[in-house]
Amino acid sequence: MKGECSRCKRPLTVENASNAVARTGIGRCRSCENEHTKGRSRTLGGRYTLGRSQAKFNNHKWELSFQQYAAIVASGRCFYCGNPLPTAAAGLDRKENEDYSWDTVFPCCGKQPKAKGPRGCNETKSHEIAPILLFVRRWYERSGKLPTEREFEDSVRQFEARRDRAFEIISKLEAGEVRKLKRAKSVAEGLAALRSDVLDFAPET
Ligand SMILES: [Zn+2]
Ligand SMILES: [Zn+2]
Repeated sequence: MKGECSRCKRPLTVENASNAVARTGIGRCRSCENEHTKGRSRTLGGRYTLGRSQAKFNNHKWELSFQQYAAIVASGRCFYCGNPLPTAAAGLDRKENEDYSWDTVFPCCGKQPKAKGPRGCNETKSHEIAPILLFVRRWYERSGKLPTEREFEDSVRQFEARRDRAFEIISKLEAGEVRKLKRAKSVAEGLAALRSDVLDFAPET
């Protein structure tokens, strides 16, 4: 036994820490390490990194910059059902079985495959159900009637307008501000903390 956990200050042992940490006596115990990882994945920057590594793992190209990603998820709401986006996943759905780029993804509440509880909107893989079908299904559940194609297109346009407006703001942030935004839980929260003139950018509730 050498050092103590840098977070909870309990002594580090081979039982409560990874071998490397127990050996060197420098670092966090296992439970603090888990908490730390969980907390990080819940930030915008953490979700961006998570999405990028999952895309890579699934052999999809990831062409989104952090600023683009933030703009796409800026509303904090799922394109299909309007529910809040997940707090520990990227929250993107590909329109078709394409790569992740500016024009190929929607913000989506879909849960990670292993998450408990009812599945979100991307319960089936993106290429198995077209976005318009998923949109129609969620719309019907909400309103009891089918949307017109026009209503689908209007929703897409609304999403794109909001996304583009968010990008206009986010792309003007300085490096230090981007770092702060990465540590925020949501774009609305991050921008509100950064600048008073973007306070009007609150997600619809
Ligand atoms: Zn600890
Ligand atoms: Zn949804």
